[in-house]
Amino acid sequence: MSLTTDLIPDGAFHGVASRQSMKESILHHLRYTLVHLPQQATPRDWWLALSLAIRDRITDDMSMTQIAHNSDNVRRVYYLSMEYLMGRMLINNAHNIGVYDAAKQAIEELGLDWEQICDEEMDMGLGNGGLGRLAACFLDSLATLDLPAIGYGIYYEFGLFKQEFLQGRQVEHPDTWIKYGTPWDIIRPEYSQTIQYYGRVETVYDSAGNSRPVWVDTRSVMGVPFDIPVAGYDTKTVNFLRLWSSHSTEDFDLEEFNKGDYVEAVRSKAMGETISKVLYPNDQNANGKELRLVQQYFFVACSLADILRRFEKMNSDWTKLPDKAVIQLNDTHPAIAIVELTRVLLDDKHLSWDSTWDIVTRTFAYTNHTLLPEALEKWSVGLFEKVLPRHLQLIYEINHRFMGEVAQRWPGRDDICRALSIIEEGEHKMIRMAHLAVIASHKVNGVAALHSQLLKSELFPHFDQLYPGKFTNKTNGITPRRWLLGCNPGLVQLFERYGIDRDWPKNLEHLRTLESFLDDNAFLDDFMAVKHQNKVHLAKIIKKECDIDVDPFALFDVQIKRLHEYKRQHLTLLNILTLYHRLLNHPESNTVPRVFIFGAKAAPGYALAKDIIYAINSVAKVINNDPRIKGKLKVAFLSNYRVSLASHIIPAADLSEQISTAGKEASGTGNMKLALNGAITIGTMDGANVEILEEVGPDNIFIFGLNVDQVRALDHKGYNPYRYYQQDEELKGALDWLCSGHFSPNDPHAFDSIRNSLLQGGDPYKVMADYRAYMDCQQQVSDAYQDKPRWARMAVLNTARMGKFSSDRTIQEYADEIWTLPAYPV
Ligand SMILES: *Cc1c(COP(=O)(O)O)cnc(C)c1O
Repeated sequence: MSLTTDLIPDGAFHGVASRQSMKESILHHLRYTLVHLPQQATPRDWWLALSLAIRDRITDDMSMTQIAHNSDNVRRVYYLSMEYLMGRMLINNAHNIGVYDAAKQAIEELGLDWEQICDEEMDMGLGNGGLGRLAACFLDSLATLDLPAIGYGIYYEFGLFKQEFLQGRQVEHPDTWIKYGTPWDIIRPEYSQTIQYYGRVETVYDSAGNSRPVWVDTRSVMGVPFDIPVAGYDTKTVNFLRLWSSHSTEDFDLEEFNKGDYVEAVRSKAMGETISKVLYPNDQNANGKELRLVQQYFFVACSLADILRRFEKMNSDWTKLPDKAVIQLNDTHPAIAIVELTRVLLDDKHLSWDSTWDIVTRTFAYTNHTLLPEALEKWSVGLFEKVLPRHLQLIYEINHRFMGEVAQRWPGRDDICRALSIIEEGEHKMIRMAHLAVIASHKVNGVAALHSQLLKSELFPHFDQLYPGKFTNKTNGITPRRWLLGCNPGLVQLFERYGIDRDWPKNLEHLRTLESFLDDNAFLDDFMAVKHQNKVHLAKIIKKECDIDVDPFALFDVQIKRLHEYKRQHLTLLNILTLYHRLLNHPESNTVPRVFIFGAKAAPGYALAKDIIYAINSVAKVINNDPRIKGKLKVAFLSNYRVSLASHIIPAADLSEQISTAGKEASGTGNMKLALNGAITIGTMDGANVEILEEVGPDNIFIFGLNVDQVRALDHKGYNPYRYYQQDEELKGALDWLCSGHFSPNDPHAFDSIRNSLLQGGDPYKVMADYRAYMDCQQQVSDAYQDKPRWARMAVLNTARMGKFSSDRTIQEYADEIWTLPAYPV
């Protein structure tokens, strides 16, 4: 691009970013932005000055990228997501723009501790778990692959709650990440949007006697965008994430203001600010709250208005919109965008229905993230009518036309009409957002091969028959920049020492060359020495955070993910209780010392999940303080699991627990991060575990338990968890012991809820059925761990064979097969 060279005085920063210029830049920001001299500066000041120095080296490329994309009127993908779990940005940005070494050396030459400075950054935790982290990895890959892309979301004032344990129980605190600002956002008041909601629909007649609906008596709210630059790795492309913050509009309180009630006017002004106040902390669970619907519409309407504004600057023919914009819906959370675009084209731009619907269906694509019924979004018709009355009318119109299609395809089949309708009939009529998203999208994808199969065969079989070819798979991935280059410097250095192709962060498949060292004992020792160093480092964190001493030579057995019954942390708890029992009864046995490491937040309203946290912490307390087992078993539950904590735990893991009930975990991405860092998976045939097995081979993973077909067969014939309980002495012993009061003397019934869900409650997630297979498989793990060369080879092969799970591969597939979006290097 000649544009770039014309407008920017030849790169004072890029490529020649030396530690000297970095140091000058840090000191400059310290002195003139933060107004401190070095002797006054706190670690936070240094972190901020460093971040601003790095930001300076990103923003010119950001401007240039946008000028190039705009002036060439390029096709773009717009990624709409309610959640972005970005974590910290400093290290990731430094690596991506190639100044990591310069920045680290500059900080060290200033007499500072690199890790301590980096630790000052608050996580940007604007997401719950896998779905939000996927969006963050995708942004990194989109920029790295030079794809024109903008992410849209909400600028939550409070991200996911901060978790603390008080006497073993979860307590939530607000996450005040933005309280003192962040160096990574840029406010863009000039692109603010005002949107309408509530009100009612009136029919008006024009002079020719033609009626049309108008949405009147609405309330309005303003969205102010904050842009977060997203720099690609080793490329000039800098895309951005645009997050909307809500503010009241002037006219919102004009009436009260004119009445002279100034204070009341200002007070009610605060209502508009609540929309973007806080992230809902429910993972894999829809909750139907009005504010949540308002949040969804708020960010969708602002984003769509922004997208259409950009389109209208360069184009005049609305039928060309799908050539310039493809909108990817991350789950159904932003699916109201479908109706909003319909409304704008029909009501504001006065297009015909057929033209409107053709544009809409060519613009949207939808990613499904779950089969769990409790996570499929439904909104009550009554609530929708109150908040978005015009949109409800349009949904009925879309559904009416769609029902006509269904009746034509399956004449007389009212049962199929009912099953496929966007409207679920019943005492309370509900709007099924997934049906809307499937009907209006040109592609619908699942997030792992198994999940995409089940989507077609179980969740949407008739839709698949009606729209052959619409359903596809895009197996999730993770960015190797954050989840190896950024989090595991020891391993990165090892790659350098052994001459691994330096472009592995862009071509993860190149790590396959590690396989040529499988018979090189020095390499295997070095690889495991890095793992050991990472374990020593994590042991220090565990000591500091939990005051537990753990032996870095023990097997580090890691389960880190949201707490949910389907993820079965309680199955791990039964394993721990069983091992503890065995140790006490066979103290002479030569068992492998293990440290169980947990990280998990429970949704604040999910009582059983919180009981499981309390149970693990209670059992941990007894085990960690029992001298009889001589430290052979330890349990460390780190509080406040988040991206930055994950990046310390993952490089230190030996074993990766991926033990969801088959058919329940759509993909998982934690499984990929851990395997990439040389942890061996113990897992079920679920989600992307199936594909990890395909990549690493059966000798390098531990697979156990029921597969999906066996789970279905068990349900079909009638599952009886009691049978497993009564027939397995160790299982009965573990569960009875948990509920004996031994682990919670002050509250002997604290864990009855767990027992009840597993027995009387029917054990919906088949914990009892999988227990024995799990225990047997864990024995194989212990045996393998004792064979050091074998374990080392398995670990290396896991790192070497994760190439498929780079989110670059995932995004390239979206670009080729869903978006038809060419790369556009600037
Ligand atoms: C990757 C990640 C997740 C998702 O983990 P799963 O094991 O796939 O559920 C959740 N939270 C954080 C902080 C993550 O980094």
